[in-house]
This record gives sequence, structure tokens and C-alpha cells, in this order.
Amino acid sequence: MDLKKYITVVEDWPKPGISFKDITTLMDNGEAYKYATDQIVQYARDKEIDIVVGPEARGFIIGCPVAYSLGVGFAPVRKEGKLPRETVKVDYGLEYGKDVLTIHKDAIKPGQRILITDDLLATGGTILATIQLVEQLGGIVAGIAFLIELSDLGGREKLKNHDILTLMSY
Ligand code: 5GP
Repeated sequence: MDLKKYITVVEDWPKPGISFKDITTLMDNGEAYKYATDQIVQYARDKEIDIVVGPEARGFIIGCPVAYSLGVGFAPVRKEGKLPRETVKVDYGLEYGKDVLTIHKDAIKPGQRILITDDLLATGGTILATIQLVEQLGGIVAGIAFLIELSDLGGREKLKNHDILTLMSY
């Protein structure tokens, strides 16, 4: 299936110069959403994943159906102040801003094998921060899956020591 047919490219959003890849037109097509999910499940199937971890908010959209299909749990990574119990945190930079990401301290047990998911790999800042959170808790990053990779922004290079899957490249 040509998944790119379901992505809407929105120029100059959220600010001038950004060519935003809108995945909502993929999500609202059942066949395309299922196909994309199944591709990631197939990639993760032999990795003995214990938990899927994804950053808010679009990492949830990708990761939760994958976790359901694998029969494992999902642990959310959220902006500071959003998770109600004790967290670990990390500062990160993204394509258009800076922020802090957190995860519940008890979300991952040392030695657990983690699949990280997000919608899109740009500079890699969000995912590097997510990797740091997983590793702070003793998790092993067994794979990282994205719908989309923006190939000019250097994200893949930053993740060169990791096993990654991207379904589309721009
Ligand atoms: P990075 O941290 O790799 O620079 O940026 C990736 C993060 O920013 C992802 O969490 C993603 O949701 C968001 N992001 C950046 N650009 C886009 C875009 O064009 N489309 C979508 N859907 N998300 C984007």
C-alpha cells in the first residue's frame, strides 16, 4: 500500500517554513491505519518486546494499537506536569521549540525490552529524549518505529546505534 497517499502535506504550518506532514488523514482511513500498524507489529514481532513507549501525543496514536496487537502494555511519555506520580525527566530540543519530557518512574523495570514509537522522525530530539528516559529506568531499546522520516534533518544519523523502522521518507 502506498501510505504517502494518505498523508497531507500542509505548508507553512505551524509556522512559516515548516512543511507539516499531517497524519490525521491516514488515521481516519481504517485500511491505511491498520496497514501501517501491521507493518510496525511485523517489525516488532520477533524482538521480544515487553512494553511499547511513545511520546505525546502522536506517539500514542502509533504505539497503542501496536501494543494491543503485540499483547503488551503501553507507557506514555509526556510533557512535564502531566503525569500524576513520581517521574524521571529529560530536557530536549525539537524541530520548532524546546521542552521537558517525563515518564513514570515505575513504568519500566530494569532489563525490559522496549519498542519506542512516534509518528515522525525529524531532528531526532524527541526520540533521543525518549531513549534517555527508557535507559534511565534500565530499559533496553529493542526497536524504534516511525510512520515518517524527514531524511534531510539528520535524525537517522543520531539513531545510528539503534534498530529503526520508518514506513515513509520525505
Ligand atoms: P524531532 O524531535 O525528531 O525533531 O521532531 C519529531 C517530533 O515532532 C515528533 O514527535 C512529531 O510528532 C513532531 N513533528 C515534527 N514535525 C512534524 C510533522 O511535519 N508532522 C508531524 N505529524 N509531526 C511532526
